[in-house]
Amino acid sequence: MFQGLMQQHSLMISSIIEFAERWYPNVEVVSRTTEGPIHRYTYKEMGVRARSIADALQGLGVKPGDRVGTLAWNGYRHMELYFGVSGSQAVLHTINPRLFAEQMAYVINHGGANILFTDLTFVPLLESLADQLEQIEHIVVMTDREHMPATSLSNVQCYEDLIDKGDSSYQWPEFDENSASSMCYTSGTTGNPKGVVYSHRSTLIHAMGSSIPNGLGLSATDTVLLVVPQFHVNSWGVSYAAPMNGCKLVLPGPAMDGASIYELLDQEKCTLSLAVPTVWMMLTGYLRESKAFLPHMKRVVIGGSAVPEAMIRSFEADYDVQVVHAWGMTETSPLGTLNFLMPHLQNLSYDEQMPIKLKQGKSIFGIDIRIVDDEGRSLPHDGSAFGRLQARGHWVTSGYYKAEGDDSIDADGWFETGDVATIDKDGYMMITDRTKDVIKSGGEWISSIEIENLAVGHPDIIEAAVIAVPHPKWDERPLVIAVKEPHSAVDKATLLEFLATNLARWQLPDDVIFVDELPHGATGKLNKLKLRERYGNHQLPGA
Ligand code: AMP
Repeated sequence: MFQGLMQQHSLMISSIIEFAERWYPNVEVVSRTTEGPIHRYTYKEMGVRARSIADALQGLGVKPGDRVGTLAWNGYRHMELYFGVSGSQAVLHTINPRLFAEQMAYVINHGGANILFTDLTFVPLLESLADQLEQIEHIVVMTDREHMPATSLSNVQCYEDLIDKGDSSYQWPEFDENSASSMCYTSGTTGNPKGVVYSHRSTLIHAMGSSIPNGLGLSATDTVLLVVPQFHVNSWGVSYAAPMNGCKLVLPGPAMDGASIYELLDQEKCTLSLAVPTVWMMLTGYLRESKAFLPHMKRVVIGGSAVPEAMIRSFEADYDVQVVHAWGMTETSPLGTLNFLMPHLQNLSYDEQMPIKLKQGKSIFGIDIRIVDDEGRSLPHDGSAFGRLQARGHWVTSGYYKAEGDDSIDADGWFETGDVATIDKDGYMMITDRTKDVIKSGGEWISSIEIENLAVGHPDIIEAAVIAVPHPKWDERPLVIAVKEPHSAVDKATLLEFLATNLARWQLPDDVIFVDELPHGATGKLNKLKLRERYGNHQLPGA
């Protein structure tokens, strides 16, 4: 082999904070704290403290490969752990505090951490779980001495004491880039959650790959409000990508309501933010009520569930903020596809562009996708053939922790996403359903997501879920469960009439139930399992 003569360095997560500290030392990181006040410092200070906490971890006996758990909101101390834990060759296990208690205990025990860092908010939760946590030896409360709570937990330490004990002249080690860097568990809508284990290499390549203009398009001119939680898929990788690009970073802590999010967007002059649709629903509601605008914002990245058309129109027409629709999952680090309009589509009218904007977008370099039929044959990119969506690439899982559920990856490395999708001739992928949510009616498939999107297009419908209900003749038929604006006069007949303008007769739901609220899972997605349990045997009219 004629070998290249270029240097080779391990792709290390610590190199990101080293870079930001050296080249963007004065760029600010602003956090709303659990203690209340807004905290500000710079990447330079973050770098110093990340090294201190890395050194302090060695003092607690943490060795390479050991898991260190976090139960925390988005904030500067969580950022320090992102770099301090992974950078010192330990593995950051971010835990979703919205899981049910038993699931949380399962995830903590299964992950195997001995040390748990927790925000003040979750101390009572940990107290109630203490008996079930099998191997936790130390709990570190992420606060200062003044705010340390009285607690029944044992072996509790204060984060700021650890920082004081740590030596900031700690040197980041270089080691195999394929070493585990962090872990995140899937939401586990069926069965137990499964562990996805990221590596330094996959994390770095994902952060670089997702930053490009066809991706998140991050640059040092951006101020990023990072609403997607650091406890879920490394906040879509932006906890790494923001310092890598020298972005000013704004972290919202525990306050996700419209007023608090608006306050940060406005006061910090944020240009870009990322969140799931539910958060944006709260923000746009607040903006309408308080007649506020977003003069600094350029883009919002929305993913995690399908973006409703009304949300795209509202951001783009009312607030002049571009919507970037994105798809991904825990197993894909998460970025898979992003939606931006290719030049020939930009000449279309806004209404003609809308069906494309509603799609989840195109692959970015580094991750490939395909759709296959039940026999595993690739399906055409014609925008109508739909099949099982599969993904493979540098930042796609090669197997779950402890080899659970490994039948979801085939011999060629294609990972079964569990989504059903179409891909059109321009390569825009559209999720039509989760494999288990699709409604199978008389041999045809009806997309629950399509009906949900249409339903929330009605001005009086706040949120809608569509599930399959057994039917004696058609096997399954769609049922809409919807939340309407208070005092709205919309009823079953008017909603069905509204849906009928965009659906074929056989796709039209058989019934509508109005409820006060819909159940959501730990990552903000509709909990259809719960809805199926509750309404799965609903008696459809005429069935
Ligand atoms: P999670 O691993 O919890 O992040 O969930 C991943 C799943 O969320 C995907 O497999 C999709 O079913 C769903 N999802 C993510 N982004 C979108 C999107 N933009 N539109 C529709 N569904 C999405």
